[in-house]
Order: sequence, then structure tokens, then C-alpha cells
Amino acid sequence: MNKLIKYGDKTLRKIPELLILPDKSHREKIDEMVRICVEHHGYAIAGNQIGWDAKAFIVRMEHITGKDEVLVIFNPELIGFSEEEVDFDESCLSLPSIKVKIRRPNEVRIKYFTEEGKEEIIEGKGLLARVFQHEMDHLRGKLIIDYMTPLEKTFIKNKLKRIKRGQFD
Ligand SMILES: [Zn+2]
Repeated sequence: MNKLIKYGDKTLRKIPELLILPDKSHREKIDEMVRICVEHHGYAIAGNQIGWDAKAFIVRMEHITGKDEVLVIFNPELIGFSEEEVDFDESCLSLPSIKVKIRRPNEVRIKYFTEEGKEEIIEGKGLLARVFQHEMDHLRGKLIIDYMTPLEKTFIKNKLKRIKRGQFD
């Protein structure tokens, strides 16, 4: 069983490995990502957030399109984005109680592999584009707090300490 990795654990700062596909053993990890994401009421989660050193993330589409399905993305690569950028308050399962306003492109196009090893291209707009970019940040060891100015960070210093100590669920 895996568990949610929170801020303070260096796993979140590691750049995960590319996945060799297809591999049946990945299914177990995907199930764990979904289980942990559901348990913490998240929209999406990346592999390293459950301690899986892999370039993978999942998106619970019920929160985006209303469809009860899970999108599984392996080895994603950003191949296009809109000029239009929008602000949005982002939160992260690994940083409970923290919200950061981040400006990002409103649309992105990514190339990725399915669990079966098939190459696909998907476009995301609005919330889906936001989720894709947030998760792809995880896959390069980047967190929402990295977008804050040093001054903004001083305001959440105590919260970060409490997360490190495990005082938030
Ligand atoms: Zn996150």
C-alpha cells in the first residue's frame, strides 16, 4: 500500500523516471494513485506523490467533464500552449491548506503514452489545462509554492512547518 507523500519529503523534488511500456505491474500503482486521490478528494495526482518514481499521473475526469472515468497519462510532453494566460488559485494534495494564484496558459496540448504503450495527443482547456500543467510540474519536481515570491512565502512559513510535522491530513 502506498500513501500520500506530503511537502517535506524529498521524493516530491526528484525528477521521476520515464516509464517502459507496456508493463502489467503499472496497473497496481495506477490503482493506488486513484485510491489515494479519491480518499483525499483530489482531481488528479502524480506518481511521485504516492512514492512511485515514474513519469505518470492520473486525472479524475468526473471533476472536469462530469464523466466517471480516469485519464491515465504516462511520459507526458508539452507540445503546445495558448498565448492566452489565466490566473487561478491552485491547491495541491501534498500541500494541504495552501493555495497559490498561478498564471498559466489557458490551453495546452500534450503528447503522452497510454498504459498500453500507445502514443496519443490530447488538448486541455480551462480546468483540464490547469490540471495537466500542475501535474507535469510534479513530474519535474516543481510545486505550487515555487511560484510564490519570497515575501509571499514568509506568510505561509508556519503552515509549511506544520505540514512537515504531519499536522495536516
Ligand atoms: Zn499537486
